[in-house]
Amino acid sequence: MDNKIVREKFAELFGTAGDLYFSPGRVNLIGEHTDYNGGFVLPGAIDKGMLAEIKPNGKNIIRAFAVDLNEYSEFGMNEEDAPKESWARYIFGVVREIIKRGGKVEGFDTAFSGDVPLGAGLSSSAALESTFAFALNEIFNLGIDKFELAKIGQATEHNYCGVKCGIMDQFASVFGKEGHLIRLDCRSLEYEYVPFDPKGYKVVLIDSVVKHELASSAYNKRRESCEAVVAAIKKRHPEVELLRDADMKMLDEVKNEVSAEDYRRAEYVIEEIQRLLDACDALEKGDYKTVGEKMYGTHYGMSKLYEVSCEELDYLNDVARECGVTGSRVMGGGFGGCTINLVPEDKYDNFITTAVKGFTQKFGKEPKVYPVKIGAGSRKL
Ligand code: ADP
Ligand code: MG
Repeated sequence: MDNKIVREKFAELFGTAGDLYFSPGRVNLIGEHTDYNGGFVLPGAIDKGMLAEIKPNGKNIIRAFAVDLNEYSEFGMNEEDAPKESWARYIFGVVREIIKRGGKVEGFDTAFSGDVPLGAGLSSSAALESTFAFALNEIFNLGIDKFELAKIGQATEHNYCGVKCGIMDQFASVFGKEGHLIRLDCRSLEYEYVPFDPKGYKVVLIDSVVKHELASSAYNKRRESCEAVVAAIKKRHPEVELLRDADMKMLDEVKNEVSAEDYRRAEYVIEEIQRLLDACDALEKGDYKTVGEKMYGTHYGMSKLYEVSCEELDYLNDVARECGVTGSRVMGGGFGGCTINLVPEDKYDNFITTAVKGFTQKFGKEPKVYPVKIGAGSRKL
């Protein structure tokens, strides 16, 4: 991340200097399609994120420069002042959500730049929202707690960017902690830090560069399957509200009452919630081999039971196994995006070379490679 460029741009545009704030993107080690089933996720903040220089300007306007896009936008802070640039709407949304909560935000100038790849599944948008939510809270002494800052980012996506996301991304960005992942209970929103310090391993994402086009209709269908199975189980076990409350025994009791497809979907979810808990136990013991096996288990489940993988992702998963990668799986909702890989250091170079070469030959496009480290959450620099 280049602080210098941001500093220079800010000085050039506004003739002064402000404070620097940073918020990270995130990965999710394991726990996919568990959130809407009331289960857990296991994200961690990464060492890539969004850097913003910010200074109050004593006016009622926001003047913002997106360094990476070389675009400038100027807008007011009332509901009707929404900017047209999509990147500026994230900043505007954060400001509006703070104002809605009674926070007194004044106008400010900003220049910002990030190194989270856009739209690759590492949540560049949460990095952007969290940076501004965190910074404005400090600069204007608003006294908003971290949990509410994450919610402000989420509400920004919902109300100003048209993305009905959960809270994981913003939560991880704000709450990230070096050397730790966050086990977040998507039902209660309670969280716990889990140690993650894989000495001798690297974490790397390989981007299949396949866009998640199928994702939203398939996503709705998967949710319907989960609901259908819950409804069937509930007849015998009224306490079951979500698949989080069910186990394989309960699922087997209704095997003849649900479709084979719905059964497979629920099987994946119930197993995935357990896999995540098992992975957390293994992390507490520093047992990365078991963690890796669980990651492969997730990939298998997402590919064969939940059926949200694709040829490109399955290929990357196969290559990982062949190259002796400890753990590998598709990260995110599926149908495209990245695989996340836990790779022994001495196997890293060969894995990357083999995967990139093989993938390019087979699919005629080059995958992107993003090595990441688990880092800290939102902060002032
Ligand atoms: P992601 O999965 O990376 O969060 P999204 O589509 O949710 O992808 O968010 C990407 C959007 O966030 C971009 O289209 C842009 O509006 C904004 N954004 C992210 N990073 C930057 C950046 N470095 N500069 C300007 N805008 C950015
Ligand atoms: Mg996003």
